[in-house]
Amino acid sequence: MARIVMKFGGTSMAGTERIRRVARIVQRQQAAGHEVAVVVSAMAGETDRLVNFCREANPLYDPAEYDVVVASGEQVTSGLLAMHLQALGCKARSWLGWQLPIHTDDAHAKARIEGIDSEAVLASMASGEIAVIPGFQGLSDKGRVTTLGRGGSDTSAVAVAAAVKADRCDIYTDVDGVYTTDPRIVAKARKLKNVTYEEMLELASVGSKVLQTRSVSLAMKEGVRVQVLSSFIDDDAPAADTIPGTMIVSDEELEGLDMERQLITGIAADKNEAKITLTRISDRPGAVAAIFGPLAAANINVDMIIQNIAKDKGETDVTFTVPLADLARAQALLEERKDTIGYYRLLANSKVAKISVVGVGMRSHAGVAATMFRALADRGINIQAITTSEIKVSVLIDEDETELAVRVLHTAYEMDAE
Ligand code: ADP
Ligand code: ASP
Ligand code: MG
Repeated sequence: MARIVMKFGGTSMAGTERIRRVARIVQRQQAAGHEVAVVVSAMAGETDRLVNFCREANPLYDPAEYDVVVASGEQVTSGLLAMHLQALGCKARSWLGWQLPIHTDDAHAKARIEGIDSEAVLASMASGEIAVIPGFQGLSDKGRVTTLGRGGSDTSAVAVAAAVKADRCDIYTDVDGVYTTDPRIVAKARKLKNVTYEEMLELASVGSKVLQTRSVSLAMKEGVRVQVLSSFIDDDAPAADTIPGTMIVSDEELEGLDMERQLITGIAADKNEAKITLTRISDRPGAVAAIFGPLAAANINVDMIIQNIAKDKGETDVTFTVPLADLARAQALLEERKDTIGYYRLLANSKVAKISVVGVGMRSHAGVAATMFRALADRGINIQAITTSEIKVSVLIDEDETELAVRVLHTAYEMDAE
């Protein structure tokens, strides 16, 4: 017998028929002799709908009230799944974030999990009851509802798995594993049987939304075994225990699996970035600190940064990217400080995309970036900014060229499936 946490995403939970299928998958897992807890997302599109209501209410809404609104999507699906399980004859109950509780800090809309009280849920599971837990939501120490940031149900699932010391955390979604790139963009993308925590972390952080970044770092830190697999399966599909999806493994495990490692593991695209350029900043110590200090203080993450060659003597242009969702705030903040920073113009562009190639093989191979730049240049795709890390190269391009760029690179690195 194993203890398994199963997580179902929005597409898997979208509507009565799909929830019924999820209930059957859960029932089968329990019938195989396992103790199970289930973490669910809101129905696909529901969180977007709720976010829109907040924006319409007030573009500068109170994040604490935003959390009250958006956490409701998962409350609905957790109750519904418990009902469907009961209809199949299973013992099941929902456990809302505040009931477990899932403790978080009070950074509303992007809260971090600090701990989960798992005794009650463990006792319930031990008695044969299926615990259904809404993802995405938690409870601050001020007693208020929090949410974990978009895609946060993955993190809820991994955190629950760590708290109940689960043998495995199965993330069921609308694709049957992690691919070399988004299979919706590149039909020739290949499914990976295994991917390391580190590679998955990089892929997630540069836009592969199949797993939320925090869920991967948490799994890595807590040593949670995570499998990504499809919920769109028939009753006679291979059991999840045979690992039909993609398993996230450690470096050591991967070596043991004796796989032919490709140089590049995956390619990701992220359209949720925006570019800001401040022109004619005086080229003096402290100028750049005056820009990024206030952004950091406002919790706005800056990703790519370029300080352009001074056009005029003593002046330089600074270009950087921020999350699209923070663009308006960043702009307002920088405009307020125009005189202190001392720039001429602020240019904002939200029509950009970041394309990244990731692979541990880069550590030992030169020329990965060169291949990327050449392949993009051959198709006339202009690069607006570049960043690199030990196992990743990212470029910023025009958003309209996203799909083309991903396909071109997938072919350039010889990753296309036959
Ligand atoms: P869920 O609602 O189940 O959480 P998401 O939409 O958050 O699902 O994530 C699954 C989606 O991630 C897939 O439908 C796919 O389009 C996208 N995706 C992006 N990159 C990849 C990748 N490398 N492998 C698999 N799926 C990917
Ligand atoms: N429902 C939330 C979202 O859409 C959380 C999740 O699905 O993981 O972001
Ligand atoms: Mg998701």
